[in-house]
Amino acid sequence: MNIKFEMQNDLLVKEIWTSWFKNKIGQLQYYFNVSEKIIITDRISREDYEQIPKWAVAFTHEQTVFLLNPYEWIKRYRIDMIVIHEIVHAITNKLEIKLPLILFEGMAVYFADQLDSIELCDEDIDGLSSTKVQLMDYSSPNFYDVSGYLFQKLVKKIGIKNVIEYIRSGDFKILFDYWDNEVRL
Ligand SMILES: [Zn+2]
Repeated sequence: MNIKFEMQNDLLVKEIWTSWFKNKIGQLQYYFNVSEKIIITDRISREDYEQIPKWAVAFTHEQTVFLLNPYEWIKRYRIDMIVIHEIVHAITNKLEIKLPLILFEGMAVYFADQLDSIELCDEDIDGLSSTKVQLMDYSSPNFYDVSGYLFQKLVKKIGIKNVIEYIRSGDFKILFDYWDNEVRL
């Protein structure tokens, strides 16, 4: 994977290029074996992307990660985590896997180590059958938390390599069956 920065200010690159970040890139390379170039840029104004929700701080289009006004939020969020989250989306886009949204986000939350802030407990997900989680979207309560929680549980159950293998083969049913029958108990 070839990461290319197109930033207005190199200071931001320093904030992103942490040892944690490099380690994560190595992991993603290992699991997904992508050789593509991924561009990270802050050269965009919010006005250019009216359809992006107001709360979003970054988004990915094909293999480009766009950071939206990062100087406004860099003190509040770990920018290296946010970029890894988006790079996972860029990889998914490249592999042309049409993932259910809950797995699409769950995988990004998982690889970006954004699970630490999740405050869900087992009781919160008691009522969440696989049918229900597959209907969830960005407007659903705790959407990112549930997606990360679900993905982490699947990894604990069958291992990250198997989860990725099922995802790459498009066999999502088996993952949701695990969720219903073995994980969510
Ligand atoms: Zn995302």
